[in-house]
Amino acid sequence: MPPIPTIRSDAMEDVTTVTTLDARAPLVFDTRTLRRRAGVMEEFVRTVLLAQDLGTDVIVVPAGESIDLDLRLESVLEGVLASGQVGATARGVCGRCLEPVEYVVDVPFQELYAYPDRVSHFQEVGDDEDDQRVLEGDLLDLEPTVRDAVVLALPFQPLCRPDCPGLCAQCGQPLADDPDHTHDVIDPRWVALSGLASDEASPADDPSNTEEKKR
Ligand SMILES: [Zn+2]
Ligand SMILES: [Zn+2]
Repeated sequence: MPPIPTIRSDAMEDVTTVTTLDARAPLVFDTRTLRRRAGVMEEFVRTVLLAQDLGTDVIVVPAGESIDLDLRLESVLEGVLASGQVGATARGVCGRCLEPVEYVVDVPFQELYAYPDRVSHFQEVGDDEDDQRVLEGDLLDLEPTVRDAVVLALPFQPLCRPDCPGLCAQCGQPLADDPDHTHDVIDPRWVALSGLASDEASPADDPSNTEEKKR
């Protein structure tokens, strides 16, 4: 059997239309109608079901939840300017008392997606454009822009309320449930004495009971 011919992968890299994006993905937008027509604008209002968690280690908008997206795509000289607003509800636990926490995010975003040939121009003139977003063919992947906007808006340490008192260091109960409860810290030297005291208490009760029975 003859060996299967392999296509050298570097031969594929020059093809500008090669894209890893799925045009049907909810956060991928086709910019064909805007392309190279500066001034043209399109607007979208979408509710997008998340395929992956969106958030940080401590608080996330879980996969399967939806986010509300208000998007304006505007054709500019260098590429397509994406701006808008994203709304979502993130869930986590309070960093002090571990109670569940919901956090509503509603944040604006704005990001320029450059034409690939404009990016190489930026690099030639030495601009720091390492984090420049680039159109892939006609497709614009809004996912990283939405992700950055939401993650930046989430709290580093989620709290159920700003003045959450946390957990009791002795019993681990949330202090918010019973803020004034205390634990008697008993000196070990007193434990023996308190045992004696209760031993004395019970015989002391008995005579009174027997007296009553006598009457
Ligand atoms: Zn709390
Ligand atoms: Zn306690």
